Amino acid sequence: MLIDVHGHIGRVAMDRREYVDVTNLIAKMDAWGIDRTCLLPLSEHPEGAYLECNTEDIITACARYPERLIPFCLIDPRYGNHPEMDFSHLLEEYKARGCKGLGEFLPKLDFDDPRCLNLYRQAGSFGLPVLFDMMDGPHSYGLCDDYGLPKLAHALQVCPGTIFIGHGPTFWAEISAEVPARSGYPTGPVKPGGAVPRLMRQYSNLWADTSAGSGHNALTRDPAFGIEFLDEFQDKMMFGTDSCLRSDVSGVCSNVAYARELRAAKKLSVAALEKIEWRNCARLLGLGG
Ligand SMILES: [Zn+2]
Repeated sequence: MLIDVHGHIGRVAMDRREYVDVTNLIAKMDAWGIDRTCLLPLSEHPEGAYLECNTEDIITACARYPERLIPFCLIDPRYGNHPEMDFSHLLEEYKARGCKGLGEFLPKLDFDDPRCLNLYRQAGSFGLPVLFDMMDGPHSYGLCDDYGLPKLAHALQVCPGTIFIGHGPTFWAEISAEVPARSGYPTGPVKPGGAVPRLMRQYSNLWADTSAGSGHNALTRDPAFGIEFLDEFQDKMMFGTDSCLRSDVSGVCSNVAYARELRAAKKLSVAALEKIEWRNCARLLGLGG
């Protein structure tokens, strides 16, 4: 069994031919041996509006393949533009319509902006984990933080009832105590003492996915460290791809290839592999099975 906690439909690339509809997504899942995928909307944030996929699109797509696809919902924390805005009418509706998480959360705001903290808390009270992207610098989207991720730490501390799922270049750069770049893919050995392992140890509500180039790079730049990291956090790491392109189907996604390598290498126990491949996701989202 393999569950991808981080999938997309819509148009993520500038190339207009790369529009991924639900049929293309299912073809990728079949080609890569993925049984179920969590589908994440992006367009509720103005930063992601061009991506052409909102919560309604996700719910419609998932209804076509209820055995394969799991909907997430998305709300922009600036809706109402107030740190005490009540989002319960939306959260209640999305939850009733089957949404299992909130994300992909990527406004270009500080991680602990009061409007974000307000939404994190309310999502948690509805049992919805928050899957976020972090990207500092002159990029158009992604939550912002300082070196060492103090704003993420603040959110983890003041929102203990909310599970956060970490993702993105700025998050994964902090797997190491040395952070030469906060975007792109830093290379070389991981220096112990990084903010990500420290916060994952300290806060039970910080989980992460393996998705995208950023997750793949963090786990493979220092292969032995990657194995140790997955072993230590085997109860809250989840397989993901973040595959965004229609043309991805012609190859094997690096995250899928890495999952296969982990199986073949036998450096993790079968129990740990199963947790990362699907059991943690099923447990977190209450999927059963
Ligand atoms: Zn994504």
